[in-house]
Amino acid sequence: MFQSRRQQAQQQVDTLSNQLQTIQKDLDKALNEYKEIVDKRKITEQQIEANTEILEKTEAALAERSRILNKRMRDIYKNGQISYLDVLLGANDFSDFATRVEILKRVIRQDINLITTVQAERNLILEKREQLVRDKAAVVELEKAAEDKQQVIAQRKKERATLLASAVQERDESEREYQNLLEESRRIEEMLRRRGSTTTESAGSTGSMLWPIQGEITSPYGWRTHPIFGTQRYHSGIDIAGDYGDPIKAADGGIVSDASWWSGYGNMVVIDHGGNIQTLYGHCSQLLVSEGQHVSKGQVIALVGATGYATGPHLHFEVRQNGSPVDPMGYLP
Ligand SMILES: [Zn+2]
Repeated sequence: MFQSRRQQAQQQVDTLSNQLQTIQKDLDKALNEYKEIVDKRKITEQQIEANTEILEKTEAALAERSRILNKRMRDIYKNGQISYLDVLLGANDFSDFATRVEILKRVIRQDINLITTVQAERNLILEKREQLVRDKAAVVELEKAAEDKQQVIAQRKKERATLLASAVQERDESEREYQNLLEESRRIEEMLRRRGSTTTESAGSTGSMLWPIQGEITSPYGWRTHPIFGTQRYHSGIDIAGDYGDPIKAADGGIVSDASWWSGYGNMVVIDHGGNIQTLYGHCSQLLVSEGQHVSKGQVIALVGATGYATGPHLHFEVRQNGSPVDPMGYLP
């Protein structure tokens, strides 16, 4: 299907802004995730710091209690169980014996308490050490995740820059093409003025024009705003929609002034209808006439194409007065 330049340009704008939106969304998501990771790492590092402090204090306490316990163990070993028995046997009476039993019980209880405390502290130290190892591994993981996120962020930023750069490049290229087309239009004008025009009689024109092809006007004559760049641009003719190979008819009888290749206009035919009126047919896929040839009104002179600066097949049709473009709608029925 034929697509007008305007529709195509609008589609490009939509695609570009959609792509930019997607990239921006990805970028925001990656930045948020990165922030979360950094926060988590900070919390884990604070945990490590707190646990290290607890560990150091517990280790100091354990060392002190171990020293006391070792001394108690040495005392018991040196004196042996006999000393307990001696204490009991040394009692003078039953009351003294009962008191000595109570004292011994207390001593034994203290020993048991000390052993239990030392064991608990050892367990706590083991637990904290394991926690520290786990937390440190978690920090390493988080750092790796943060690095990955930063890479994603850098990638998205690069994609965004590339997309914007290509949009700028496209704009520049479009501007170059436009300037080139204006320059070609001026050269055509000079060429037609230099050659002059014959009389309507010798040109064989009828004085009225017909539509060179039947189709929708996808771009009118005159000034318009570029759909992407918002700049003002001059269109020297009308664009009529057509398909590749559609026959293009001479709008009126005349003499072919030019039938050649131009870079912007592509394959182009100009017909002089006499009385300083010319018609121009651009972007043709094929030319069927040559310079100096007489053509009659309605004769097929070329085929529709998309040569030169054209994004799809269409006929760029101009009417010129003494070489200068005028609005073709004033001539077409
Ligand atoms: Zn055009």
